[in-house]
Amino acid sequence: MRIDLHTHSNRSDGTTSPSDLVRHASEVGIDVLGLTDHDTTEGWDEAADVAERVGLSLVRGIELSCKLAGYGVHLLAYLPDPTHPALAEELERILDGRSSRLPAILDKLRDLGIDIEAEDVRRLAGEAAAMGRPHVADALVAKGIVASRKEAFDRYLGTGGPAYVKRYAADLHQMVGTVAAAGGVTVLAHPWASRHNFDALDAAGLAALKEIGLSGIEVDHQDHDASTRERLREIARDQDLVITGSSDYHGDGKVDHELGCNTTAPAEYERLIALAEKAAIASGRTTPEVVRP
Ligand code: AMP
Ligand code: ZN
Ligand code: FE
Ligand code: FE
Repeated sequence: MRIDLHTHSNRSDGTTSPSDLVRHASEVGIDVLGLTDHDTTEGWDEAADVAERVGLSLVRGIELSCKLAGYGVHLLAYLPDPTHPALAEELERILDGRSSRLPAILDKLRDLGIDIEAEDVRRLAGEAAAMGRPHVADALVAKGIVASRKEAFDRYLGTGGPAYVKRYAADLHQMVGTVAAAGGVTVLAHPWASRHNFDALDAAGLAALKEIGLSGIEVDHQDHDASTRERLREIARDQDLVITGSSDYHGDGKVDHELGCNTTAPAEYERLIALAEKAAIASGRTTPEVVRP
């Protein structure tokens, strides 16, 4: 049983359509796939249709842009009702923040002598509902200024880089509650990735999040080295948090994140789904089911 609970399609910054993502997952032997585009559920329906046809389990999710103590943090939400008013409102605010940031990034690049039109970025973003820096990176690649998304982040777009612009993100603690109210469960994505490693997410910080309803933490992720994974695993066990592992697949958009490069143990997955069923009942909302073959 191979379970990969964190992947992206071209509805955010992945490079494959939701259908191709599901087909590819099925071909490489993934049994349970989580589709977790940044800040949008646009890919859900298409992915669910294909999952049913190819006989793969699909867990509909979202990777939510949040902030804690001034730092950006990613929160994976599984199986929430996306029409819940507070959740829908936050998603809209985050997507607005993504769109309004684009001209500011392009102004900064222009100051550096690089001319990119918003239209070029929008064209490259194609069907993405959640536009982001990766699409600006694609425009820099298309212009021949850098060779890859990675180089674009390293030289221009990364946090603190010369073309970096902050954008709106939701309050993390509040968002954990909002997803619960929408009948879903939350897992903190790559909590100790180097760019997120700060005191607010130490053992006590994670315990505080568990206290307000966090269900799990993503331990096995490419941004965590072996010793980081071990320390996080221990904290998760101490605090009875679900342990997940996933690829954070982005198609060609990210190297070394192939589908199934990290996976979630079946027992941990079952715990997560049981918590989601409880959350759905407690919320009184109509939530998406896991698509099962
Ligand atoms: P944004 O959502 O616009 O703030 O852009 C951040 C997203 O860009 C992250 O969620 C990653 O998916 C992606 N990203 C960050 N760093 C890199 C990198 N070095 N190479 C490729 N993609 C990256
Ligand atoms: Zn991404
Ligand atoms: Fe992330
Ligand atoms: Fe991700």
